[in-house]
Amino acid sequence: MDVTAALKSCLGPGGVLTDAADLAGHIEDWRGRYTGPALCVALPRTTAEVAQVVRLCRDAGVPVLPQGGNTSLCGGAVPDAEGPAPVIVALSRMRTVRSVDAVNNTMVVDGGCVLARVQEAARDAGRLYPVSLGAEGSCQIAGTIATNAGGTGVLRYGNTRENVLGLEVVLPDGAIWDGLTALRKNNTGYDIKHLFIGSEGTLGIITGATLKLHALPTAYAVAWIGLDSPEAALALLGRFQAACGARISGFELINRLQLDLVLANVPDRRNPLSGPHAWHLLVELSDSGTDAALATALEQVLESALADGLVGDATIAASETQRAALWEIRHSVSEANKKAGVGLTTDCAVPISAVPGFIATATAAVQALVPDLPVIVVTHLGDGNVHFIPFFSFEQWAQVADPEAMARRIRHTVNDISHALGGTFSAEHGIGRTLVGEMAHYKSPVELALMRSIKQAFDPDNRFNPGRLLPEPKA
Ligand code: FAD
Repeated sequence: MDVTAALKSCLGPGGVLTDAADLAGHIEDWRGRYTGPALCVALPRTTAEVAQVVRLCRDAGVPVLPQGGNTSLCGGAVPDAEGPAPVIVALSRMRTVRSVDAVNNTMVVDGGCVLARVQEAARDAGRLYPVSLGAEGSCQIAGTIATNAGGTGVLRYGNTRENVLGLEVVLPDGAIWDGLTALRKNNTGYDIKHLFIGSEGTLGIITGATLKLHALPTAYAVAWIGLDSPEAALALLGRFQAACGARISGFELINRLQLDLVLANVPDRRNPLSGPHAWHLLVELSDSGTDAALATALEQVLESALADGLVGDATIAASETQRAALWEIRHSVSEANKKAGVGLTTDCAVPISAVPGFIATATAAVQALVPDLPVIVVTHLGDGNVHFIPFFSFEQWAQVADPEAMARRIRHTVNDISHALGGTFSAEHGIGRTLVGEMAHYKSPVELALMRSIKQAFDPDNRFNPGRLLPEPKA
């Protein structure tokens, strides 16, 4: 069976991409590190069409690769170089905001809606969809659900998982599961939606979602703070938590190297502070009420921290434009690092109290492997999530004899340290293909067996995103 021809006749003109130029953006990952062939890209317009596509692929025995905005940072959304080429199913023609219920604080959206559009539609209804990350202008809501994305709002609002109430999913046999409930209480057996959240395209195609909305803050106060150490940042977190509680909606720590790379590689970014500081912290408070009340709370904490020598310097955004500019620095880190060199991004989370020790131990361990190797650190400090990024210039990387082995060794070194502290090797990016080896290494046989039986129940022929998330069982 010629599956591409069958898909063309099912989806009509414009429904299937086969030209090399059209496929290019779908078969290489965001960082340009992984690529592989696809039979075609199918662009269904409705859930029923997604189901037809899946049934055609099933009948042809062809693998299916669900793809969102292709912003995965762990190679989860593009084909393998080897093995049977998949049909990529992309939902870029399914971008309807189906409904917004401001009283119930929910909205129902197509899986292909871009995250920024979802945030905007919530805002238009006077509500907040709180998941926010650097790729929000291109990642799709279904992609964020399939990876259980985190981002900068987790401290206050939780991961994507905490913000999804219901899902609609096309299963590997072509059946449609309508689980689009908008309930906050629903104890009716196993909660199936949670299996799809974080499943990375291995169990089905998410075509729709009911999302939880929150009150839209009316006031913000944002500061950029220079300090000496992660310990100081942690002490400051404690002070903010004591003084401001749930009003803290951002607490993002980066090291000086990261700021320097943003300033050098991304146009229109300016250093908010004049002096040099080893560490930089962005703190955001948000609430109902007025900006003035929040600014006072922010100033009070900062004044006492400055007086106690905890903080070196700080500036508070005086306008919406300045607030956005501070956030743009934070949201530019991945773009800057991609332009500047080869960063071996890790995605650990440790107990928050262990973050400073983790950074110090991992730095020493990596520099024992590669003397003087610079390390970028980007931390969602309030979540204990540290992107610890050993960083090679392009020239230095070109001289590494076996780049894959080097990347693996450094990653394992860092992940071992996280593991020893009770942490994880994947906090928010997912497993994709990069971390499949870590799954085999760190997950217990019991947990792996449970995951395999779930995969077997949904996708017995292993056709949905094969080779991702789960390691092959040992022979
Ligand atoms: P893709 O990359 O296309 O796919 C990701 C995975 O989801 C794949 O396994 C794919 O098969 C699966 N998938 C996609 N669509 C579907 C679907 N409809 N049904 C079933 N499975 C599907 N991540 C964070 O968590 N926090 C961050 O702060 C963050 N910042 C980022 C900043 C930048 C600049 C970039 C490039 C990435 C960042 N990421 C971050 C990673 C990435 O944006 C997220 O993982 C995002 O959730 C992926 O969404 P996507 O639509 O691009 O999915």
